[in-house]
Amino acid sequence: MNHAPAKPDGAAIEEMFAGRALACPCCNGILTPVMLADLVAQAGRLQHAQQAARHLPAGGTGMLIDPHAHMIARTTDDYEAMARAGVVAVIEPAFWLGQLRTNVGSFIDYFSTITGFERFRAGQFGIRHYCAIGLNPKEANDAALADAVLAVLPRYLCKEGVVALGEIGYDEQTPLEDRAFRIQIALAQQFDLPIMIHTPHRDKKQGTTLTMDVLEECGFDPARCVIDHNNEETVQEVLDRGYWCAFTIYPSTKMGNERLADIVARYGPERIIVNSACDWGVSDPLAVPKTAHLMARRGIAADVIHQVVYANALAVYGLNGEMRAEHWLAPAPIDQRTLYSGNSVLRGQAPRVDGAAGDVIR
Ligand SMILES: [Zn+2]
Ligand SMILES: [Zn+2]
Repeated sequence: MNHAPAKPDGAAIEEMFAGRALACPCCNGILTPVMLADLVAQAGRLQHAQQAARHLPAGGTGMLIDPHAHMIARTTDDYEAMARAGVVAVIEPAFWLGQLRTNVGSFIDYFSTITGFERFRAGQFGIRHYCAIGLNPKEANDAALADAVLAVLPRYLCKEGVVALGEIGYDEQTPLEDRAFRIQIALAQQFDLPIMIHTPHRDKKQGTTLTMDVLEECGFDPARCVIDHNNEETVQEVLDRGYWCAFTIYPSTKMGNERLADIVARYGPERIIVNSACDWGVSDPLAVPKTAHLMARRGIAADVIHQVVYANALAVYGLNGEMRAEHWLAPAPIDQRTLYSGNSVLRGQAPRVDGAAGDVIR
């Protein structure tokens, strides 16, 4: 999204005039500070309407959701690029941070950051931000810490913007991971939340089957569960067993966007979801828009693309009512003068302030 120049407020306009008069360009009459302020407000509304129009599906790939993105590890440039490419919403699942945490306080602060400041930061660039909260399998292997984290989870599961319990599942498929997984499946049932599953990178096929076996054993409804990080070896079983089947597109790896386009061409769009899982590693926050464009170039129909890069994610992660299309169809205008606990995303730059319909710039 282009940055609008800072709009002068009423006081600044008064100051610009400094008692002088301006001629109106159409009638040559006298233009007062109030009239100029009104013109500036109208220009703001036009700009806002133009930006809203850019987010509507219109022939191209339309609006996009990235339902798995670790945005706390990404930059403001990434948010701007994602918004420009049509990403209207992201889901940030709780995971590990590249090294193991040593106490429960680190988890508490992390959960607060992803449900709090990061949500604010995304909004400053026009992107709606939602979360999945959970204890990841890697850190479930510290039994005492896992117990402490599981005890604080309930206070975050009912926070605004939390759309799922996740990402949970198996890493090395240890007994401690299994224990934390089963406890969290029960929590998801208790809090009526969908589940986002992280499937192991090692022994993926067997780990994915085990994950679904355990979910079934616990009586969890597959229609409320997304199995993530799939590949060609797992897709058939995941779809056959009734789960949502998500694919993480990492640049230059096993699951690139070419292969995803092949999968969509073969299996169709039902219950298929695409995400970037962008984080602090080599990953691409534009993986979803790039995949959408590749599918379009390959001749895949626009409604099929829309389903895998937008509608399916909204259907499953919208189940608890926290994530709704109206959030981005009728968004609050961007106002980078806004602060979060006294803090701004700006470092001395002119704030971007979008005009909303009907607003008055004083
Ligand atoms: Zn994962
Ligand atoms: Zn992840």
